[in-house]
Amino acid sequence: MKTICKFTKSIQSLHKNARNLSHCLMLTPQDTRVRTNPTHIPTLHQILQKCAKEKLPTEGMACHSCIIQYGLFTNTLTSNMLINMYSKCGFINYARKVFDEIPERSLVSWNTMIGSYTQNGNEKEALDLFVQMQKEGIEFSEFTLSGVLCACAAEFAVLECRQLHAFAFKTSMLANMFVGTALLDVYAKCNLVEDAIRVFEYMPEKSAVTWSSMVAGYVKNELYEEALMMFKKVQVTGVEFNQFIVSSVLAACAAIAAKIEGIQAHAVLFKTGFDVNFFVCSSLVDMYSKCGSINEAYLVFSCAQDKNIVLLNAMISGFSRHGRPMEARILFEKMQQIGLQPNEVTYVSVLSACGHMGLVKEGKKYFDMMVKEHNLSPNVFHYSCMVDILGRTGFIDEARSLIDKMPFVATASIWGSLLSSCRVYKNVELAEIAAKHLFEIEPENAGNHVLLSNIYAANRQWNEVIQARKHLKETQVKKERGKSWIEIKDKVHTFMVGERNHDRHDEIYSRLDDMFEEMEKFGYRCETQHDLHNVEENQKEQLLRHHSEKLALVFGLMCLPSSASIRIMKNLRICGDCHVFMKLASKITGREIVVRDTNRFHHFRNGFCSCNEFW
Ligand code: ZN
Ligand code: ZN
Repeated sequence: MKTICKFTKSIQSLHKNARNLSHCLMLTPQDTRVRTNPTHIPTLHQILQKCAKEKLPTEGMACHSCIIQYGLFTNTLTSNMLINMYSKCGFINYARKVFDEIPERSLVSWNTMIGSYTQNGNEKEALDLFVQMQKEGIEFSEFTLSGVLCACAAEFAVLECRQLHAFAFKTSMLANMFVGTALLDVYAKCNLVEDAIRVFEYMPEKSAVTWSSMVAGYVKNELYEEALMMFKKVQVTGVEFNQFIVSSVLAACAAIAAKIEGIQAHAVLFKTGFDVNFFVCSSLVDMYSKCGSINEAYLVFSCAQDKNIVLLNAMISGFSRHGRPMEARILFEKMQQIGLQPNEVTYVSVLSACGHMGLVKEGKKYFDMMVKEHNLSPNVFHYSCMVDILGRTGFIDEARSLIDKMPFVATASIWGSLLSSCRVYKNVELAEIAAKHLFEIEPENAGNHVLLSNIYAANRQWNEVIQARKHLKETQVKKERGKSWIEIKDKVHTFMVGERNHDRHDEIYSRLDDMFEEMEKFGYRCETQHDLHNVEENQKEQLLRHHSEKLALVFGLMCLPSSASIRIMKNLRICGDCHVFMKLASKITGREIVVRDTNRFHHFRNGFCSCNEFW
């Protein structure tokens, strides 16, 4: 009611101001005849289109007042244009008012109104309107269906989507490209990727948007290898590329560190000229940095003409991930020199760069600066970085009091980082507190139980070790199985701990044994306390020797040319034993080994790791 009053009021006042219309719109004297001659509907339509396109609500309302004045509102086309204008200007309630007052609604009016709701984020209303449309027995078109489906995607309305799917099937609209694309998009966004694939395969005709929706759907559902396969199909079928397909492909490459495919996507971008787009540039920087190639990431970054905040953030986060805090901090300074203000994302990267290298003084400085100089209030990620920085550098009590002081409930990752610090600095008392919180937040994570028992073991509290192990058994927690990936000649090979499924497993295991023998000459011994499996000591050693990243490394050594660096990706944090193993391997083989674990990158060269033992 309030809105309607406001609406009437503004129309009345605009009536008064109608005389100023020509001035507002800078119309030619000829155009102003619209006020005096209602036969000039086309001119009015042009003005309404201009108002919608350039988002000029005041001028649009003035136009509306003319329309009321001359009784033109009964014209359905004019009303549809008004709905469109109000919707584009963000005045969705006014749009609805116009819609409700149309004496004869055509299908276009309904479609326009449904589209308006979806564009303005009122998806629920769009769905309701569709229901009303059905109740009134109005036939819908492909455009109605695709419009309502867009609303379903935003609302994650699976049930409605399934009903619409059935409608589409009954009315033979399923073969329509727009309907099919919208349908597969909803399914993919609602994590029903199987259904999305079925719709995709059924579609007789597919546009570039269809393909890019399918690739994005795979990425959304973490089916990165499938996304890359789709990309190959796109290349074969000769579909025109759009930047969205390539950006999704780059995200998939980044996720599974598939550098070769990433380079291919880069080549496509180069050919199509999309590579100058800052959005695509940021995806490229992110891809190269997550594939372990920080130098290539920097090259893309340096060549980009337009350096905006998204691109800078991608680069700073890359430096941080690769344990290069100096570069991250220099870029942070440069960013401000060119007049860009750091945002929350920038600070997460800069703080985590400090965390990776244990730079406590610098971390505190940035945390302060963020509030005082840039007027940003730290969120849970910033606090998490600070707890990490303090904990890693041994200021465990300070880390604890920061957790108490922060205005959020601490997350599992915050307590987890405190627990890890307690292990390094042998603080049993705080470890127990952190572990207690962790058991509550993520009871299914076995890693926490094992970490706590390791802390007891390091302090020779054997009774507590037994208790912790017993507790672990009783709660029947599951441990995520360690997995590593390595890309050889554009094929990604996956390894699991102790698994013998690979075509060349005999060779891999015997080469690995040779490596152990060689390493033992350098004093290497399996450090079984790092193993998280609840098994006997000798069995534990066996498992530890066959951790997935070790298998991936040996396979890389077998297949890659001697000058190539070896890049491995791992789904968990690298364990202490594998870390020692990789350092020695880099020394013995003279290779650069890059391991990306869930937390960061480790660049192993000549017996040392870039992380300086902080991880
Ligand atoms: Zn390991
Ligand atoms: Zn390391």
